[in-house]
Amino acid sequence: MNKLDSELAAEALVDAGHVVVDDESDADTVVFNTCSVREHAEQRVLSRLAQLRGRRESDPDFRLGIMGCFAERDGEELLGRLPYLDFALGTRQFLRLPEILADLDHGGAVRGLFGDADVEQHGIDLAHPRQRHSGMQGFVSVMRGCDNWCSYCIVPSVRGGEVSRPAGEIAAEVKALALAGAREVTLLGQNIDAYGKRDGTSLAALLRRIDAEATADDGLVRLRFVTSHPRDISRELVETVAALPRVASHFHMPAQSGSDRILHAMGRGYDRAGYEAKVALICDVIPNAGIASDFIVGFPGETDDDYQATRHLVETSNFTNSFIFKYSPRPGTRAAETMADDVPDLEKRRRNNDLLAVQNAVNESRGRSLVGTRQRVLVEGVSGRDARRWLGRSEENLICVFEVPEGADWTGKLLDVEVERATALTLYCRPLGLA
Ligand code: SAH
Ligand code: SF4
Repeated sequence: MNKLDSELAAEALVDAGHVVVDDESDADTVVFNTCSVREHAEQRVLSRLAQLRGRRESDPDFRLGIMGCFAERDGEELLGRLPYLDFALGTRQFLRLPEILADLDHGGAVRGLFGDADVEQHGIDLAHPRQRHSGMQGFVSVMRGCDNWCSYCIVPSVRGGEVSRPAGEIAAEVKALALAGAREVTLLGQNIDAYGKRDGTSLAALLRRIDAEATADDGLVRLRFVTSHPRDISRELVETVAALPRVASHFHMPAQSGSDRILHAMGRGYDRAGYEAKVALICDVIPNAGIASDFIVGFPGETDDDYQATRHLVETSNFTNSFIFKYSPRPGTRAAETMADDVPDLEKRRRNNDLLAVQNAVNESRGRSLVGTRQRVLVEGVSGRDARRWLGRSEENLICVFEVPEGADWTGKLLDVEVERATALTLYCRPLGLA
């Protein structure tokens, strides 16, 4: 989501006549797009800002700003505390970047803009993307914000309530990105399987519409969507993914914990059995589907028994990947305000490393079980390390490496391969032919 917001901000700046440069030292304005999900992300931005302080103080034409979740959460206070910070724009105000820069040039006093605004209505021409795709990957936000208020999570307070965009607008944007060169488009939402539920539509209907409107001329070969909340995944959605070859059979469906007690305290709206039932539903409809998950270790009150329940879930679920985070209390969240952060950091780290090792063992055995199977790969290009080797990604988002015949350029094409060898993170394959 932040990557897309950065691209949208760059697009707004380019529209206003600015130029995006590759090297920070060539820039006369530096803007950090910030994250607030964990405290560590905020600390990193503060240290990056401090590194530029000297330059800001010695060069009167240099400007330093922040946008995104940390700006939304703490921008006002940061502007007061850090005199070398020129401006801060919240999560729904960042398309006003050109405006605030022009104002500052003319001695304007406004340095912070926060709170509600419809980002899509700030002069960005979504139908004509220019700065939008890095290589062949495009991102399209289908909804913004979140209404779930999981007890640990800052997202609803910094990104606001859930708002779905009209399907027609989304389909037009996907098409424009494809025409501009994107081969794979990822639809984004914090809780994407709740898309459109208030307007009587659904993510399944949206996927069908985008798929039906894609043509051979667009060159759109793959669609992905993240992130799925386990509670809202429906049989209709899974059956739609199964029915549309263009939609990758991959679900990012964070469990967060394997312990019922902790899931309840997190306010996730499902228990362990409910989560496992959704995994079973997906595997029942699409036997070779990939499922990735997120976990938080060291949530307030998490005992060793609770952790063992999480460990067991990872051992038995055959996830393609697990993103594992140490619990970080976020100001204003229910967990931070009412529950003691009582798992020592050393223990959080131990559980984090242990769970990573469990997932790594799952990846190794998963890889072994894929040897001999056929995979459909979107070819991304030549490997940086070895010019004879090419890289691509499978539907499950696994990295695939293979050799391409001399002189052939398969970049952006779908290729069928057979897996010959696998490590925890990479599948070594033999090309069978373009799909
Ligand atoms: N909307 C997505 C996740 C958004 S945040 C969802 O509901 O799945 C991305 C991940 O960060 C979450 O899945 C969670 O695992 C982690 N996370 C969120 N708040 C956190 C916190 N306070 N401490 C540690 N990890 C957190
Ligand atoms: Fe945060 Fe929960 Fe919303 Fe995900 S669903 S963004 S974890 S509140």
